[in-house]
Order: sequence, then structure tokens, then C-alpha cells
Amino acid sequence: MRSSPQAERRVRGVEHDLRTQPKWRRRERVTLIDNLSGSVVWHFEGGEGRVVIPLAKWPDLSGNVLTHNHPAGWRFPVDDPRHAGSSFSIDDVALIAHFGLVVLRAVSPGYTHILRQSPDPGNLRGPLPRRTTDHREVSLESSTTTIARGGASIVMDGIQVSWC
Ligand SMILES: [Zn+2]
Repeated sequence: MRSSPQAERRVRGVEHDLRTQPKWRRRERVTLIDNLSGSVVWHFEGGEGRVVIPLAKWPDLSGNVLTHNHPAGWRFPVDDPRHAGSSFSIDDVALIAHFGLVVLRAVSPGYTHILRQSPDPGNLRGPLPRRTTDHREVSLESSTTTIARGGASIVMDGIQVSWC
């Protein structure tokens, strides 16, 4: 499943705010967008390194589009290579693999990072995707199911994910 044009439009507006409002240089915000209507389902705000999605909201993730910001790069001056910021954590990848998101996006000062659900959900073997710091877009060609089996909770740079 691909993200819809209306969800793409909405996500660009949400990410414009994440890029331009000074507040989001110090805090994270995660936004879920309904893939069919393009409307915002919810936002949650957190601190500089973390935002939590409440357990009761996890069922909303399936089939929809999630974006959030990685503000840590703002700690560095703009001429410092670290200013561009970090891409997905392995835990971000677990989020898309296990909760059925269509697209997971992250905004850092220098990039927009995009993970798309594999078009072939039966293709669930293979190495973990490499970290994507140097790439603007990565297709999730292979699954990451092994990393999330048997765990209870992980806290990623941006989002807390738990399962049982
Ligand atoms: Zn993240």
C-alpha cells in the first residue's frame, strides 16, 4: 500500500511546521495521518529525545502514515556536519515492521527520512536494513521481525514501543 496524495499533502504541511517553528528544535512531536482522508488522527509531544505513543493509540497506526522529528542536530552549529541530524533508529524500523504503518517519516535539520512498508509482506527474511544516515529514502525490502520478538519494551530516539 502506498501513501495517498491527500496524506502526502498533509504530511508536508505537518513537516513544514516541524522545520520552521523554533519550538520543535527542542522537542519532539509525532503525528499520525489517516491515509484515506489525509486528516490528522493525533499528535503527541515529548522532550528533546523522546516522545511516547500511549498504548491505547497503537491500533491506530496500521495502514496510516506517521511522521516525527529528530531535533538533536540542532545542538550543533549549522556548519557542523552533525547538524544534519540522525536518521531512523533500529527501533523506528521496528515500529513500521510491527504496527503496519504504510510510511514512517522523520525530519532532522538536514533531511527528510522515509521508510515505506515493503510491497511484499511475505518477504520477511533478510538482513536488517543498514542505518540510513546518508540516504534520503530507503525501501524496507526485508523484514525486521527478529529484532522485536520476545521483547517487552524498547525506547528509541524518538518513540517508545512495547509489545508482548
Ligand atoms: Zn525516530
